[in-house]
Amino acid sequence: MKSFAVAICAPSGTGKTTVARALTAASDDLVFSVSATTRAARAGERDGVDYHFVGRGDFEQMIAEDALLEWAEVHGELYGTPRRNLEEAERLGRRLILDIDVQGARQVKSARPDSALIFLLPPSFQAWVERLRRRGSEDEARVRRRLETARAELQAVDEFQYVVVNDRLEEAVARLGAIVAAEGQRLTREDPDLLELRRDLEAALARALA
Ligand code: 5GP
Repeated sequence: MKSFAVAICAPSGTGKTTVARALTAASDDLVFSVSATTRAARAGERDGVDYHFVGRGDFEQMIAEDALLEWAEVHGELYGTPRRNLEEAERLGRRLILDIDVQGARQVKSARPDSALIFLLPPSFQAWVERLRRRGSEDEARVRRRLETARAELQAVDEFQYVVVNDRLEEAVARLGAIVAAEGQRLTREDPDLLELRRDLEAALARALA
């Protein structure tokens, strides 16, 4: 199976990580891209599972060594996708699901034009702000900062190929699954098996019609 990257972006508080994780868990064809970050781990987060938590020096070294497929500064911290995440997904013939910000998604698309970019929207402003506030780690100043970032991110929706509303988790996951499956059937994806089948069919047709 041809491997490719799928970047899922959303304003903070849309439930993007939950959706991306649930999507990945639902299929053996998908693998979640664990990012590197300089931000501190939140309660319950595990190193190497949720993120690779690294110091600024180590992160800068990864940039210098060109070890990151993309990276960006988000809310004052550095976040990036190790190149080896995609290499490993390719080796396994799986699709890589990236939970990243808009700046990162742009870089992924320009480095790998066969990537799919999906934007997730909250169902309403009210539900969105409530979700942001429920996160124990967010004080009011932080909520405001995240909403300001969100305003800029919303303006980037037109750069995405797909938009999904995250109203009910199962529905959002089902829609994302359908998008990934459809992306896998794109003619531009040069699956060697499909190319061979097509050649065989053309040769057989030529013989049959000779
Ligand atoms: P959080 O700190 O809440 O986990 O993530 C903050 C933002 O950084 C989210 O929008 C998240 O998707 C984004 N992010 C996480 N990992 C990466 C990454 O590897 N690259 C980029 N560009 N953004 C990331």
